Order: sequence, then C-alpha cells, then structure tokens
Amino acid sequence: RLQILFALDDGLVIETVVIPCDRGRTTVCVSSQVGCAMNCQFCYTGRMGLRRHLTAAEIVEQAVYARRLLSGDVGSITNVVFMGMGEPFHNIENVIKAADILVDEQGLHFSPRKVTVSTSGLVPQLKRFLHESKCALAVSLNATTDEVRNWIMPINRKYKLSFLLETLREELKFKNNYKVLFEYVMLAGINDSIEDAERLIDLVKGIPCKINLISFNPHCGSQFRPSSDEKMIEFRNILAEGGCIVFMRFSRGDDQMAACGQLGKPGSSQAPLLRVPEQFRVALNLGV
Ligand code: SF4
Repeated sequence: RLQILFALDDGLVIETVVIPCDRGRTTVCVSSQVGCAMNCQFCYTGRMGLRRHLTAAEIVEQAVYARRLLSGDVGSITNVVFMGMGEPFHNIENVIKAADILVDEQGLHFSPRKVTVSTSGLVPQLKRFLHESKCALAVSLNATTDEVRNWIMPINRKYKLSFLLETLREELKFKNNYKVLFEYVMLAGINDSIEDAERLIDLVKGIPCKINLISFNPHCGSQFRPSSDEKMIEFRNILAEGGCIVFMRFSRGDDQMAACGQLGKPGSSQAPLLRVPEQFRVALNLGV
C-alpha cells in the first residue's frame, strides 16, 4: 500500500492510495473532493468538512501519476476506485467527466468494469450516474435501519434506506449484467448483530449485488470500535446462507491511516459529532 500526497495549485493537499491486491490486480483509490460535506460519523475525512470540489483534471491526474510512478514497480494500475476523500456524487459533473476520460480509448482506456464510483447514497445523482456512465457503482450502506443510518450517515435523513434501495432495484432492471457493490463497514455493537445480517438479506433482495464487509480502521478521536473477526465471519456466513454474494476485507491500512474513507487531516473546521442514540451509548463506552 502506497500513499501519495498531491499539493494542488491553491496549496490544498489531497491523498491518493495505491493498493496492491491479489491475482495481479493493483487498485488506485482516488479522491474527488478536498474534505467531504457528508459528515459520516465513522469517517476521518468527514471530520474535515468540505474545502472544495476537485476538477476532472485533478481527479484523472491522480490515476495518471500513480500509473506512471508504479509501472515498473508493483505492475501497472488495473483498477480505479473513487473511494478516497470526498463524496463523488456531490461533485458529479467532474466525476462523470473524469470517469469518461479514464475509460475512453483516447484517455486511460480502463475497462468500465474496473472503474468504480462509490457513494454514500445521493439518490438523484446515483440515478443520473447509472444513466450516463458505464462505470461500476458501489454504495456505502453500513446500516440496516434508518435509525442507525440517520446517525452514522446523516445523508440518510434526506434519502432514506427504502428510497435508496428501491431506486437501485428499479434502475438496475435496465442494466445488463450489472451488479452494485454494497460496502458495509462493521462497527462493534452498532451494525454487526445477527438481526442486522438478517435485515440486510431482506433489504437487498431483488437487487443484483455483491456485499463487501469491511473491517473498521479505528483512528484518533474515533468513538467506534471494529467488530471482531469472529463476528465478521458469523455475519458473513448468515449472508451467504441467505443467498448473498459476500466478500470480507480485513483492515490493511490501519497502520498508516490510509484506508478508504479515512484520508485527510482534520483542521480547525471540524464537522460536528452527532448525538449518540441512547441504546448505542454502552457500545461506545459512553455510559448511560
Ligand atoms: S465516508 Fe465518504 S461520504 Fe462519508 S464523510 Fe467519509 S468521505 Fe464523505
């Protein structure tokens, strides 16, 4: 894993991560904004608030640079994921433009299946992306009830789980051979119960999808803890028995604070932490 810092023309800094994966794949994780406005409670970048959108050129440049830097080293870049700093669909014009350049044969000529844009759930923009882009889509789900998602991902107060999932169910009917990737960061005592696993099976029913269970990387100031490996395996097994295609990713970036959704240095403009619902205060060791 290699972390690259880019100084932008206006002095702001963004981070790009190169992740060597198995079977000869090397993925570059690009940022789409400096900071992020979504304020997901478990995310390090979210603590920064939003500084600005990146231009399409600034997004593409991250992949170009990583490819040039590494071509003789860990093999050329095979995949691009928009999972660095920022909510890509908050900057949708530039993200669609950048994704087009990444897959264009006059551009970087990646296969559209190998370019994945990840969203926290901006539903109208997600719909537009599915209509306008051939690239792959990932949705960061992380909860199975509106109550939990409203808290840990405040965008859910605007676009509820049922609306998000119903939109995907409808839109994917018109896509051929296309699966959305649901990301699910596992937080001890918050979203990792057996009931959560059972609810998740019901929620994604009828949506062509894969589910990626991700171990949480604790960072300084974080109130959350990662689920144990046993808990993750149990959760995975329930989903698999329920007919889901499920993968598991144990944390690999916690040693250097360079895991997706955890980039950036919170400065003075920290976004507010939201009130913890009563029933989760014990899980966070806050007392009742
Ligand atoms: S998880 Fe993604 S959308 Fe949420 S605050 Fe972090 S960077 Fe933004």
